[in-house]
Amino acid sequence: MADPLSRRTLIERGGLAIGILIAGRATSRAVADEEIKEADKIKQTDAHYQRFPKGPQRCQICLQFIPPEQCKIVQGPIFPQGWCQFFAAKENAQ
Ligand code: SF4
Repeated sequence: MADPLSRRTLIERGGLAIGILIAGRATSRAVADEEIKEADKIKQTDAHYQRFPKGPQRCQICLQFIPPEQCKIVQGPIFPQGWCQFFAAKENAQ
């Protein structure tokens, strides 16, 4: 009589379970890393962030801006029309 759970089936299911476990842990780590990164960013007050542009300078055309409302170096939320002292225009920005 054949065993309904053959060695091959057990190996395949075990591999799938391990894959799911690894994917879950990687996702949790990515979320934790993102939270740490946000906490490590410069506070808006320290960056002299404002919710309005400074002349033609605004977050929307800054190298550090991540649409729709994040910045690589300053804690969010960041408005596209905002500005801070670390503004650096993208090449060909208008
Ligand atoms: S101007 Fe400041 S807050 Fe805005 S995207 Fe650039 S670095 Fe970030």
